[in-house]
Amino acid sequence: MIVAMQDMAAETQIQQVIEHLVKMGFEVHRSTGARQTVLGAVGAGIDFDIRNLELLPGVQEVHRISSPYKLAGKSFRPEGTIVKLADGIAIGGNDVVVMAGPCSVESREQLFATAEAVAKAGARVLRGGAFKPRSSPYSFQGHGEDALKLLREAGDKFKLLVISEVMEISQIAMMLPYVDILQVGARNMQNFNLLRELGKVRKPVLLKRGIAATLEELLLSAEYIMAGGNYDVILCERGIRTFETYTRNTMDISAIPIIHKLSHLPMTADPSHGTGRRDKVAPMARASVAAGADALLIEVHCEPDKAWSDGAQSLFPEQFAKLMGELRMIAPAVGRKIA
Ligand code: PEP
Ligand code: MN
Repeated sequence: MIVAMQDMAAETQIQQVIEHLVKMGFEVHRSTGARQTVLGAVGAGIDFDIRNLELLPGVQEVHRISSPYKLAGKSFRPEGTIVKLADGIAIGGNDVVVMAGPCSVESREQLFATAEAVAKAGARVLRGGAFKPRSSPYSFQGHGEDALKLLREAGDKFKLLVISEVMEISQIAMMLPYVDILQVGARNMQNFNLLRELGKVRKPVLLKRGIAATLEELLLSAEYIMAGGNYDVILCERGIRTFETYTRNTMDISAIPIIHKLSHLPMTADPSHGTGRRDKVAPMARASVAAGADALLIEVHCEPDKAWSDGAQSLFPEQFAKLMGELRMIAPAVGRKIA
């Protein structure tokens, strides 16, 4: 950590800051220039609030250098994490894995028709919500365990793995036999009790960025899961809320290379929730692969106009198949291939 004192800060103020840092466990290196003194503090733990230093008299700025997350940080595993799934599928290696399916599981017919289409186009994982976090309590909330049974059946039939969202602790044990990846939705990214429970599970977790979460907060949430011993965490950019209203969210493509710089965890892009508009999903999916995404999560519906949730952002099966063809061309240009 670097503490820059104000120009001409009094010696008593500098000494007070040094004492404070030493009490926190830091070793302090002092550098005194003609006007300004800068203190370099090394070695203390990670759990401190820099605002306590910023408030000391004579302090101009404080910069943290070491990251507040240890397990999720790049230095924990500089070579990167490859999350191994069943059937030889892995996320974080050379292959880009495409996960696709409806927003919600509505019926057997809807799910099987969509699963067949996405499998044929080359998806490896079937998505589908069984528990839906909806803004309105009057909107469709999901078919629960019945939906999970259908997901597993469709996944097995069309050789797709299965991902579905877990919304609360009480659902975890019930969901485990049905899914290959547990999804934590944007609204639950900081549900710390849920994250802690998922740390005890031995199944990969896809953790979505909260609608107003910084990347540091996303990584700290991943840290909650990893601190429990579950290192199979896959991160996901799904758009954040900004002042822009044209799209449902603002898809932060830069999150992909930033996460790859800060963390060893694989990074997914969800252009469906990221844009909220079917016509913008393919360009953002292409951009995500070009930017280094390890996986994509895309909503596809056999009849989007009749979807019970997120129809406007769901691709028609033909659009998805066309997109997969484009991704197969883009991936090799950045040294990857579509799984
Ligand atoms: C979803 O994937 O259907 C979903 C609800 O996503 P998010 O949590 O990103 O809104
Ligand atoms: Mn959705």
